[in-house]
Amino acid sequence: MADYEKLISLSKVYGFTEAAPLDVSTLEFLPEVLDMCVSCPGYGKFWPCPPGCGSLEEMRRRVEAYSRGLLVQTVGQLEDSYDWENMQKTAMLYGESFQKLWDTLRPDYAGLLAMGAGSCGICKECTYPEDKPCRFPERQIVSMSSCGLQVSRVCSDNHLKYYYGPNTISYTGCFLLE
Ligand code: SF4
Repeated sequence: MADYEKLISLSKVYGFTEAAPLDVSTLEFLPEVLDMCVSCPGYGKFWPCPPGCGSLEEMRRRVEAYSRGLLVQTVGQLEDSYDWENMQKTAMLYGESFQKLWDTLRPDYAGLLAMGAGSCGICKECTYPEDKPCRFPERQIVSMSSCGLQVSRVCSDNHLKYYYGPNTISYTGCFLLE
């Protein structure tokens, strides 16, 4: 079994604000969450976003192989609810931390599945929806929401805060490890 204390410390070294062990059996794949993706700018533009990501049933089957993982989170402070600059900064910090941790975990966990916040974003332009496969399937980041996961519920079911008060923003992702 992975040493989650060590993984949590490492997550913080890589810039995440919080991290916690994830019990994969708490994940619920909700069609109503997927329905909300239609209004997202990433909808129909990336392989790991709907409709390219496949059905909830396919995702449920993919995740069935795992029992444990790690939840990671970056929390940012905003001046007010229109503070776009700090939202972007927090998203960037989250993305950098996610990439660093992923690169470190990959050699140790052969079947590692990374699920992030938002769309994939590895390439400047995704090959979707052209008739071409993903350029880096092994590096593809699946969005938690596009799997029908309600991120706030995943956090509370795994004893991690999701809301940090007014004028804050949090980005949450996870790695399915074992
Ligand atoms: S790795 Fe590139 S081609 Fe593959 S889903 Fe991500 S952005 Fe698209």
